[in-house]
Amino acid sequence: MPRSTRTPVIIIGGGIAGLAAAARLAAQGIPATLLEAKARLGGRVHTIYQGSTPIELGAEFIHGQNKALMKTIHEARLSVREVCLRHLLFSEGTLKKQTLFQAIEEVFDAIDLRKPDQSFRSFLDAHVFDEQARQIALHYVEGFNAAHADRISVHALLHAEQAADRINGSWQGRLTRGYAGLVRFLERRINNAGGRILPEAVVKRVTWKEGSAEVVYSHRGKPKTETGSAVIVTLPIGIWKSDKVVFQPAFTEKRHAAHELEFGNVSKIILQFRRQWWPKSLDGFIHAPAEPLPTWWTSGALLTGWAGGPHADVLLRLSPARLKALCLDVLSRIFSEPRSRLESRLLQVHTYDWLRDPDVRGAYSYIPVNGLELPKILAAPLCDTLFFAGEAMVFDAQTGTVFGALESGLRAADEVIKHWRETR
Ligand SMILES: Cc1cc2nc3c(=O)[nH]c(=O)nc-3n(C[C@H](O)[C@H](O)[C@H](O)COP(=O)(O)OP(=O)(O)OC[C@H]3O[C@@H](n4cnc5c(N)ncnc54)[C@H](O)[C@@H]3O)c2cc1C
Repeated sequence: MPRSTRTPVIIIGGGIAGLAAAARLAAQGIPATLLEAKARLGGRVHTIYQGSTPIELGAEFIHGQNKALMKTIHEARLSVREVCLRHLLFSEGTLKKQTLFQAIEEVFDAIDLRKPDQSFRSFLDAHVFDEQARQIALHYVEGFNAAHADRISVHALLHAEQAADRINGSWQGRLTRGYAGLVRFLERRINNAGGRILPEAVVKRVTWKEGSAEVVYSHRGKPKTETGSAVIVTLPIGIWKSDKVVFQPAFTEKRHAAHELEFGNVSKIILQFRRQWWPKSLDGFIHAPAEPLPTWWTSGALLTGWAGGPHADVLLRLSPARLKALCLDVLSRIFSEPRSRLESRLLQVHTYDWLRDPDVRGAYSYIPVNGLELPKILAAPLCDTLFFAGEAMVFDAQTGTVFGALESGLRAADEVIKHWRETR
């Protein structure tokens, strides 16, 4: 028989959503146990260090100034560095300055929420745009949203842009010492307030009825059970889609919603050089829509390559050696430098395969055509017993962000706290 323990609230998943929920419950004196499949916390926030240089294998940027995230960063006393927003376009063999957002705005201005929803691809096909603006908008939508243009909803895109405008979304920052600082801070908060965190606890099954739930998990290979009166589920959409965690009774509407929601792919490759060899005037972002790795950005001696959506699907099939060779080829074209010279300056290549990570199975979610309600369906609590959070369960279409995950975790914790107070 598996060993059984009882805690009032069980949280599944130790990414930002789960940690934020656990920290808020702990601060309110509500005992909670967080079960995380991996030996490390943070989920899709995954910073490694090369000496003192943080390398972000997952989330890297603070997109805009979301209140909850900025408040947490402030409380954690983490230092933030503003990102250089110079955008250069590599086209026809030359690098030139690009007013990226002007082109994107031109295209987005034509989205009309009064018209039926459609995919971004159908929308582009139905309108006449300057060819370069069209290419840039397509490159931006696929890259930023990890999306396929023929699946992503234009209504969701516009809602997300409007929501981004409300938080000064064009501002970008980085945590100077890496996003892991945020994870460590939340972990400390939970521990200091008496919360319980259990790494290497892979949840297999949740059997529930109103007012109680039993969570079966494997802890370092041994079967265990935890029972509680509420569970906060923060599983990534890739895990929802895989049906790896069984809920009894099952919830059909939510399962359908998770299957309908898109979970996109990203390929992120970080080339760490011995020192910065390119001129400071090229610092910022480089967009090369015709290249297999179409987006690049600089940070100290790091050059990071990024592809989302269809480009990422292709790159994720390459071996690490082939990927490295491809990166060097692309950079050699962009910077007009011989490949051998680039290679001699290279210290290390870092990448992480989120698609094959068994606890994530993709990068982040985006909303398909007519799917604006899906996050709400997924986030709705069930019988004041099961509560839901995670980057996909945000209500302003800004899926796939750290701040969205954080806010969703706080929202789910508040739902539990409200119920807790009403029933005690
Ligand atoms: C390559 C990449 C780059 C990104 N860049 C940015 C960026 O620059 N800025 C930004 O804001 N966002 C970025 N994001 C998105 C951001 O990382 C996520 O939106 C956010 O971290 C998700 O947090 P979460 O808590 O919802 O999910 P997760 O972080 O995925 O947490 C879920 C947790 O559940 C655990 N789990 C899974 N199955 C089980 C199980 N059976 N039992 C127990 N635990 C389980 C997982 O191990 C994981 O730790 C990026 C994502 C990726 C992949």
